Amino acid sequence: MDYVFPTYKRFPFEIVAGSDWELTDDQGKQYLDLTSGIGVCNLGYNQPKLNQAVAEQLTKVWHTSNLYESSLQDQVAQGIVNGEDYLVSFCNSGTEANEAALKLARKATGREKILAFNHSFHGRTYGSLSVTGNDQIKVGFTPMLAGVSFAEYNDDQALEQVSSDLAAVIVEVVQGEGGVYAADASWLKTLAAKCQQVGALLIIDEVQTGMGRTGKLYAFENYGLKPDIFTLAKGLANGIPVGAMVGKKSLGKYFGPGSHGSTFAGNPLAMAAAKEVLATMDSEFLEAVAAKAEFAWHYLEDLTALECVTGVTGLGLMIGIHLSSEVKVAAVIEKLQAAGVLTLAARDNTLRLLPPLTMPASELLAGIEEIKAVLAEDILVGV
Ligand SMILES: *Cc1c(COP(=O)(O)O)cnc(C)c1O
Repeated sequence: MDYVFPTYKRFPFEIVAGSDWELTDDQGKQYLDLTSGIGVCNLGYNQPKLNQAVAEQLTKVWHTSNLYESSLQDQVAQGIVNGEDYLVSFCNSGTEANEAALKLARKATGREKILAFNHSFHGRTYGSLSVTGNDQIKVGFTPMLAGVSFAEYNDDQALEQVSSDLAAVIVEVVQGEGGVYAADASWLKTLAAKCQQVGALLIIDEVQTGMGRTGKLYAFENYGLKPDIFTLAKGLANGIPVGAMVGKKSLGKYFGPGSHGSTFAGNPLAMAAAKEVLATMDSEFLEAVAAKAEFAWHYLEDLTALECVTGVTGLGLMIGIHLSSEVKVAAVIEKLQAAGVLTLAARDNTLRLLPPLTMPASELLAGIEEIKAVLAEDILVGV
């Protein structure tokens, strides 16, 4: 690629088509997809119902601006809040959803400080980058937003950093980029209780964990939590760019006319796709995801018998296979590509799997078996 900034290290092939959980590259090679385009195409590729919903909207109107009523936005927002007392502010990405959350938290509390966690990932714009616990991706871009401090994830000492001068605490239920580590249930519940005690808003970043990924519509439901604010993007419209900041209804008065907005926010094509995604993710669908995940975890736990696997972590169909230091995750990913399986990496030499939620158990198992074969081979190479 000659005309695009080299901000991504890309694999030397191009995906040109997809169907369900299978992708085809420019050489005609087929892959079993265990990435969902990094947790985006949760319903897979080339889905007739989604295609139809977007195609229908395409012939009506592409864009109208937010100067007029939008029943489509309201229908999607209704699907997102799912009967709870929340309001939705639409945007176009995960980082923007987190920006909106940080702005709302500061305005609603009149406080400046934000607590975030080491190894978190919240996005690449200044606010969300400032609360991202990864110094490497901040090099050359300082100064960051003032008033941000970090604590250790899943660490009881972190709870003491929740003080009454905080506007918000921002946290992922499962740290995705950070290595696919799920929050300890009692720790996360105590964190939520502490926030409430000191009047700091709890922001849960559901950009990767949301939209059915963990067997619930939102991962915090697994923990019986009700955050003040949560953010969505990746899977919300299955690949049409969209984001959403969802906040308790009581916060509505702080986000009045003129306080926040975006030209493309709530774009009709994205809304048409999101509406169909939400309609698909009913309780029956989510139960099937949970059942498939349970099936997959049975086989995933077997992987720890391999010498090069130090552990398997995650929740639902958000899976991290931790590799010992003598096996490099980048090499494993390339070997799997050659074998026709697409996977991802995360921090800590972790092989990360985010398969489409629609993938049948038999295909999930085929993917896991292929991973097992490649990892077993790697041991031999390492000996
Ligand atoms: C991907 C991701 C983001 C950023 O989303 P973009 O749409 O890339 O801006 C934020 N938070 C989490 C947890 C993510 O996984």
